[in-house]
Amino acid sequence: MTPTSTAEATAWDLIIIGAGPTGLATAIEAEKLGISTLIIEKGCLVNSIYNYPTSMVFFTTSERLEIGDIPMTAASAKPTRLEAMAYYRKVAQHYKLNVHQYERVDRILPATAGFTVHATHASGRSARYSTRKLVIATGYYDLPNRLGAPGEEQPHVHHYFKEAHPFAGSRVVVIGGKNSAADAALELFRHGAQVTLVYRRPQLSPSVKYWVRPDIENRIKAGEIAARLGYQVLEIEPEAVRIARAAEDGSAAPETELLPADFVFALIGYHPDFDFLEAAGVRFHPDNQRPICDPKSFESNVPGLYLAGVVVGGRQTGEIFIENGRFHGQVIAAHLHQQLKAKG
Ligand code: FAD
Ligand code: NAP
Repeated sequence: MTPTSTAEATAWDLIIIGAGPTGLATAIEAEKLGISTLIIEKGCLVNSIYNYPTSMVFFTTSERLEIGDIPMTAASAKPTRLEAMAYYRKVAQHYKLNVHQYERVDRILPATAGFTVHATHASGRSARYSTRKLVIATGYYDLPNRLGAPGEEQPHVHHYFKEAHPFAGSRVVVIGGKNSAADAALELFRHGAQVTLVYRRPQLSPSVKYWVRPDIENRIKAGEIAARLGYQVLEIEPEAVRIARAAEDGSAAPETELLPADFVFALIGYHPDFDFLEAAGVRFHPDNQRPICDPKSFESNVPGLYLAGVVVGGRQTGEIFIENGRFHGQVIAAHLHQQLKAKG
């Protein structure tokens, strides 16, 4: 879409990119210290949670998802996706956070007194902001990992699972061996899909939650969900998935099997937007692609640019959750309060 106008540059102490739980928590802590803060979000509030499976129940109990000292209530110990969305919405309203929804940050440029942030609204309108400090809290959910197998980009291959109803009566292959794959396989089975779970290791991952594991293992034992454990995907055809037993050295065995499939769910995790971080000047540890950032302040190698939430973990997306990422904001706000005070 062609941009129609460019908004005037507005000066903020702090701009936070991303209105996930981490971005919201950081804004609350910054505002408490008198730091003028704008959050820019390309979707709706807690956009990733909004896009999670429709009937998802969090693994985490309510109190460990709370931000800004506001209690979260839920009908059960673990909140549903709807309850979590309602909670974060209320918290943002309570603290009167400045959030520009439906604006995607495209570019971050260094400026004399901080940064210039270029964004595009969903309508196509361009916006430009100037800020002294910046936090990138963009999560990982927008970028699903890829198998790299031929046929992966066909329309019947999905990298997200929302709900099972449309797949009742269909042959579905689910790829992956952790929680998203296990949850989706179970829900699809319970909605009448014929499910085959394909995982590259000989046993389901130990990180499958202890209350999910017996369910999935018993369905596999009973033959209600077919499983190909220790198999890798070679190719996705229009109505089948070609797999082969994964050899110990990571190569595929010569004999292959063709699994009939009307739909395929490759639920193999997500990763942060490394290109976006790199374009902002952030560098990475060469061994694990973890962004360079001071653990005591979360300031990156770019002075004044902080990282918060799951982006801090780089490829190690299993290390930071809402449970611990929600505390990054306190650390960042305290550090940048000192810095802003020192500069006057
Ligand atoms: P996100 O919540 O992903 O927020 C990032 C935001 O940035 C998004 O709203 C996105 O739209 C926005 N954004 C991205 N790029 C741009 C851009 N260029 N411009 C503007 N905005 C942008 N953790 C737990 O602690 N407990 C759980 O039970 C749990 N369950 C989970 C279930 C599922 C299915 C998944 C996938 C994850 C779960 N997690 C759980 C992990 C947790 O949701 C994430 O760790 C958490 O959302 C990270 O928060 P965040 O604020 O860092 O990122
Ligand atoms: P994940 O934890 O990153 O697991 C990805 C899975 O895909 C792993 O089994 C991995 O194999 C496999 N994989 C990765 N790359 C692959 C490739 N190229 N080829 C084949 N297989 C590949 O992702 P996730 O299961 O989507 O979970 C993401 C986050 O959501 C986690 O934090 C999880 O706890 C959370 N979650 C929460 C809930 C809930 O709260 N109800 C539900 C689902 C998920 P290896 O095991 O070999 O690494």
